[in-house]
Parts: sequence; structure tokens; C-alpha cells
Amino acid sequence: MKLLDGVHLSGIIRREIAIRVMEHCSNQRRSPHLAAILVGNNPASQAYVRNKIKACEEVGFGSTLIKKPETTSEQEVLELIAELNQSKEIDGYIVQLPLPRHIDEEKINLAIDPIKDVDGFHPNNFGRMALGLPALKPATPKGIMMLLERYQIETDGKHCVVLGRSNIVGTPISLLMSKKTKPGNATVTIAHSRTHDLAALCRSADMIIAALGIPKFLKADMVKDGAVIIDVGINKIADETHPKGYRLVGDVDFESVKEKCSAITPVPGGVGPMTITALLDNTWETYAKTHSINL
Ligand code: NAD
Repeated sequence: MKLLDGVHLSGIIRREIAIRVMEHCSNQRRSPHLAAILVGNNPASQAYVRNKIKACEEVGFGSTLIKKPETTSEQEVLELIAELNQSKEIDGYIVQLPLPRHIDEEKINLAIDPIKDVDGFHPNNFGRMALGLPALKPATPKGIMMLLERYQIETDGKHCVVLGRSNIVGTPISLLMSKKTKPGNATVTIAHSRTHDLAALCRSADMIIAALGIPKFLKADMVKDGAVIIDVGINKIADETHPKGYRLVGDVDFESVKEKCSAITPVPGGVGPMTITALLDNTWETYAKTHSINL
């Protein structure tokens, strides 16, 4: 079984990005700059944003964290977005989800300038991706594709079952996996909470991408010998032995499945770090475009 190590691979790709920054940025040309808007006090969101900002420092990007209280109005967030859209100093930005309930996520998403949409959620980018045109791709699916590419996982003609149909993971990764690309060219089945006989479907898969948000959902008896397993899930489960009182597990029962599969991503340390690496790569992409640097 091959461990698809997202921490190790992220280290390599982030060093490549850092080298590009050193080569192209100087006193005359500022370095790429990512901004993040964080509304409210969701602890998981705070941790995600902190990691993204830390990753920017690692590769030599500038970063700005805009923290707003839970009570911030939708209008205030829209005004912030308008400022970021205009700013010549910000190449890309994200609005960390979820937003407080009184803020319409769709409205916020539509207000983001697609050129600076490094999360790739704006319909312009999503639609272009669906058509196979150049686009900023959502960070998690892009990170998975980078992982498959760098570990040279063969996907051509394989049956790939995607568990989950969310707009941020399940739907975009199923689109990318079905495109005429390498990696890609897979025969994709997208499964969800209404799918019948999921276990049999999973057993027919050469590759399973699990993104449902249910701890250890995918068990060994649902996996074909030699399948490739990509675990997107990040779930907290109680653990008295851990200093924090909990630990993180994926949507895959790693201990049993690792004995059956040919390759698997761990949680933590698999898709999570690759997501942040893909976000950095998207930020570099927007920067390179506006500064006419050939990619
Ligand atoms: P979501 O809640 O938006 O979507 C879950 C999907 O799973 C839905 O489409 C639903 O139909 C499907 N589902 C639910 N129960 C099912 C069942 N019993 N059988 C089959 N399908 C079922 O979730 P999401 O935002 O896509 O996130 C999924 C998981 O991935 C979560 O654990 C989340 O924390 C994690 N995540 C990780 C990263 C990362 O960087 N590693 C990024 C985003 C999300």
C-alpha cells in the first residue's frame, strides 16, 4: 500500500512556488498577496484561515486577514469585497465559509471578481472548469488532482466513485476526473445520500473519493482489492487520550481499508495540506496573469 502523503508533497510544491516568488519578485515587483475575510468565531474556520496565512508566509507571499465579528451585516461584507476587487495590492482572496446565517453565501460568491476568486467558487470559474476551459479551480479538487498527478496514479479508463455531491468537493472533483486530461479520463459515478446499495457500487470502483463528512464511513468490506482511496473528510471524534479531548479522522476507516487498497491518503496529512497548496497555486496563477509572467 502506498501512502499518498499530502504533507510531504505539499512541502515539495510549496518550495517550487517559493522559488518562483524569489525569481520573479524583487524591489521593483511586490510578491503575490492573498487576503482572507473571516466573519464570526467558528473555531474550525479560524484554524483553517490561520493555516492558510501561515502557508503564505512559508512561500514568501504577503497576506491580509480581515476578521469581522459575527454581527457584521451582509452589506458590510459586500463593501469589503468591493474594496478587495479594486485593490491593486491584493491578487486573490477568499471569504471563509460557512458565513453566519444572516449572510447569503450565494450573493457574496457572486460579488467576488472572478479574476481574484482563488477559491474557484464563482460561476464564471466553475462554468469554465466544467467546459474544460482555463479557470481558477476550487482548491480541494485541484489539490486532489495535483496529488494524483505527482504520485502518478493511473486514472485513465478507471471507474471512480465519488461519495458526496457538494459544490466545493464532490461535484467539482467528479467533473475534473471525467475530463479528457491526465489525471482524469475516468468513468465517474457520483453517489450521495439517496444512492441505492452504495456498498456494491463502491466495491465496483477502482478509485473512491470520499467526501461525505461521516467519520470512518468507508469500511474495508466496501473496497475492492487494490483500489485507490482518497479521503477528503475531516471529522472530529472524542478521544480522552488526546490533550485536546478529540482527534481528527476522515470519512474512511483507515486502519481496515489500508490493508486492502493500493494507495490511500491519511487524515490528517492527506488532502488537507494539498487544499492549501492548491490555494497558494491559484494565488500564484492570478498574480502571474496580472504581472504577465508566463506560467
Ligand atoms: P457536505 O456536507 O456539503 O456534503 C456531503 C455530501 O455527502 C452530500 O452531497 C450528501 O449527499 C453526501 N452524503 C451524506 N450522507 C451520505 C451517505 N450516507 N451516503 C452517501 N452520500 C452521503 O460536505 P463537504 O463540504 O463536501 O465536505 C465533506 C467532508 O470533507 C467533510 O468532512 C468536510 O469537513 C471535508 N472537507 C475537507 C476539505 C479538505 O481540505 N480536506 C475541504 C472541504 C471539505
